[in-house]
Amino acid sequence: MKHSTVFEREAPSVAAVTASLAGSRQSVFWLDELEQPVHPVLQGQARADLTVVGGGYCGLWTAVLAKRRNPGARVVLLEAERIGWAASGRNGGFVEASLTHGEENGRSRWPDDYPALERLGRENLAGLESDVVSLSLNCDFERTGVLSVAYEPHQVAWLAEMPEGVALGEAEVQAEVASPIFKAGRWVKDDTALVHPGRLAAELARVAGDLGVEIHEHSGVIGLESSRTGPVTVRTAKGSVASERVALATNVFRPLLKRSRLMTVPVYDYVLMTEPLTASQKAAIGWHNRQGLADLANQFHYFRLTPDDRILYGGYDAIYHAGRKVKAEYEDRRSSHETLASHFLTTFPQLEDIRFSHRWAGAIDTSTQFCAFHGLARRGRVAYAAGFTGLGVASTRFAAEVMLDRLAGESTERTQLEMVRKKPLPFPPEPFAKAGIEATKWSLDRADHREGRRNLLLRTLDRLGLGFDS
Ligand SMILES: Cc1cc2nc3c(=O)[nH]c(=O)nc-3n(C[C@H](O)[C@H](O)[C@H](O)COP(=O)(O)OP(=O)(O)OC[C@H]3O[C@@H](n4cnc5c(N)ncnc54)[C@H](O)[C@@H]3O)c2cc1C
Repeated sequence: MKHSTVFEREAPSVAAVTASLAGSRQSVFWLDELEQPVHPVLQGQARADLTVVGGGYCGLWTAVLAKRRNPGARVVLLEAERIGWAASGRNGGFVEASLTHGEENGRSRWPDDYPALERLGRENLAGLESDVVSLSLNCDFERTGVLSVAYEPHQVAWLAEMPEGVALGEAEVQAEVASPIFKAGRWVKDDTALVHPGRLAAELARVAGDLGVEIHEHSGVIGLESSRTGPVTVRTAKGSVASERVALATNVFRPLLKRSRLMTVPVYDYVLMTEPLTASQKAAIGWHNRQGLADLANQFHYFRLTPDDRILYGGYDAIYHAGRKVKAEYEDRRSSHETLASHFLTTFPQLEDIRFSHRWAGAIDTSTQFCAFHGLARRGRVAYAAGFTGLGVASTRFAAEVMLDRLAGESTERTQLEMVRKKPLPFPPEPFAKAGIEATKWSLDRADHREGRRNLLLRTLDRLGLGFDS
């Protein structure tokens, strides 16, 4: 018998999908409405105690926390384009405690360290929340928790095995969020908040500036030079900074260190945003507790409300282009946005007249262990962290602390973690990367069509601790 998912069995008409997308613009909603000051291009030669490369969350937290540790330090942050323009400004805004891309991944890779990893992740989320308050970060932070939903029988069984949170039966989950396809749910209230991603980045830049960090935009670093005794110098097209320490927070972009070149692949993730719901549309779905939602498929969706009651709906397709390139042209992919619109209408058939206002995509920095790796280079003077694999809104703050611990030469509970001390396996070079990723994606889709059953390839990858996720 051919298996299908609910999105195939209860697909809306092509006309309904086309109409829902007809007025949408290819533009990142979160960045669209943001007014940010322009930071000057780096010109000439500068000196610093710490140079941070990258103006996403990871680099911004590194700069802010470096100033907190040592207010007198001269910190320079160099960003190739605009602050927060990349993943940090275009994500779903789920602020999750997990440092390990979920419990199962963390426990299976680092069983001995897992209790510490879980505690440190919770402390990091609490620290982030306390920073939101104490630094007055105006970023719509809401501690809503996350509601995992099942729409196939095998997913209901998986939910039942989850140890945490409140289990919700079919009627209860539909009373929270009225989708006829939800068969069960589990609401974990403590570990997840929601945030306006673009504002979080912009506010961190504001605070960094107030603390005296010198920020330069349109100042991409093209080279990193060091000698045995002198400072580490980073070069841009128009200038350079010589400093005692450098933190690389360049995420999915071409790494400045050769050793990191095969460690991540950019995987494109697609997102839709609706118009604000009308009062009757909102009444038709409930969602009074405003939780972040995610489903349990391998190719999963995430969805959430904005403060003005739009619905953000993203995920499912994870597209890798051979050659590891990050390119603007990969962001407009009609079929991925149509698939999302179709799945949205299956999930909320009562919103058949919904219109999407924005559609966009972003590159996810996927690593083979599904969470960040950390390293030191140039005799301990250059630190790096990348590979957050779609769960970096909170964990980049933890990675910033790790980089600062290590650059200071401090041994801390964080630096002792095996996750921090050891590197994951790299992805293979092309053409093997593309072939391997396509085979894995095909297998994941097949598993979603076969009650979650994993084929030989997936079971082998599981055993090797290797994989592909977004
Ligand atoms: C569509 C999408 C949805 C997501 N949803 C979620 C979610 O809901 N929850 C979650 O936790 N995570 C999510 N993520 C992941 C999360 O957004 C990232 O893990 C996180 O933003 C990574 O932050 P970063 O600072 O490391 O990287 P980025 O935000 O990518 O910043 C890196 C910066 O470095 C700059 N840079 C690169 N190279 C250089 C150079 N040589 N010189 C100068 N600057 C350089 C880039 O221009 C860029 O601004 C999502 C990601 C995407 C794409």
